[in-house]
Amino acid sequence: MSRIEIDLDQIRENYARLKTIADKKGISIYPVTKVAAGDLRVARTLEAVVVGTMADSRIENIRSLKLAGIRSDFLLLRAPAFSEIAEVVKYANYSLNSSMATISKLDLEAKKQGKQHGVVLMLEMGDLREGTSIENALTIARRIKELGNVYLYGIGANFACYGGVAPTAEKMQALSNYAKNFPEIQIVSGGNSANISWLLGTDDTYSINNLRIGEAIMLGLETLNREPIKGLNREAFVLAAEVIEVEKKESSPYGEIAQDAFGNVPEFEDEGIITRAILSIGRQDVDPDGLTPFNGQHTILGASSDHLIIKAEEGIRVGDEVYFTPSYSALLRLMTSPFVQKKYVTSR
Ligand SMILES: *Cc1c(COP(=O)(O)O)cnc(C)c1O
Repeated sequence: MSRIEIDLDQIRENYARLKTIADKKGISIYPVTKVAAGDLRVARTLEAVVVGTMADSRIENIRSLKLAGIRSDFLLLRAPAFSEIAEVVKYANYSLNSSMATISKLDLEAKKQGKQHGVVLMLEMGDLREGTSIENALTIARRIKELGNVYLYGIGANFACYGGVAPTAEKMQALSNYAKNFPEIQIVSGGNSANISWLLGTDDTYSINNLRIGEAIMLGLETLNREPIKGLNREAFVLAAEVIEVEKKESSPYGEIAQDAFGNVPEFEDEGIITRAILSIGRQDVDPDGLTPFNGQHTILGASSDHLIIKAEEGIRVGDEVYFTPSYSALLRLMTSPFVQKKYVTSR
């Protein structure tokens, strides 16, 4: 079985270091657990730094963490679907929202459960994923005041997720200006790991006082250019995959070329005979484009659902393990796959 090795110390250190930097600038960090697919040990590790507020995009992850005894509050990052309103009110303290229809349902359900639910209104600021206009947000804020079981906890914006739009100082200033219209709010949430360069570089955070951070904590990367963050660990997650075939074969397939397993017509460069190895992991478990072999060894040639094919260094044998660091999308799938074993280590 393929294995993901999770170094909890590296995760804890990354969160603690980022938190120290952010604290000095008056910014709270809500650590985001979604890339770890709601992993309990990872959540406990974050909670060892501080019991505060965590965030996740899936209510299922939040639910399982709360039921397992995680004490932190939770912010749901994806706007609740009507079908999950009851669970959202039950397990999440806050949710990101942009539709009055959803907020009305949250209010009704919160009343039923005898709770107060905090709404973070998302503003559209150019990246074109979630968020509404400032005009509509003002209308929603007025209507929230008339409701008994939801309250406006904050406003926020999201960057560099769909449109690749950067959270520049100008965008942060614009969001801060919007915030002046909502005197009742507690957080102004400026974005995600794409905001790290801004956070590190800025002397003036205006009224931004919160960030929602996943990738920077888990992988040690800022996400505008996927640059390593100084002082953060980069190997909190390492994939070990087993070799199931080693053969010297052509580098270019031979025969009549038609579609591959995924409907593409592949093209190949001919470099003669090479050493090819097959690993027992595939697209069902990982995004192969997001894997980087350790120490620059081996080259990934391709993958089908269950096989990863590499151009291997000499000396590789059937039964060996090959190690990779995963990108965010590769890690997300690894943590979600039931075919990948999780192993926790406390320092590598
Ligand atoms: C995933 C997500 C985040 C965290 O993003 P990272 O790049 O992992 O830091 C923050 N906010 C929202 C709305 C998200 O969906």
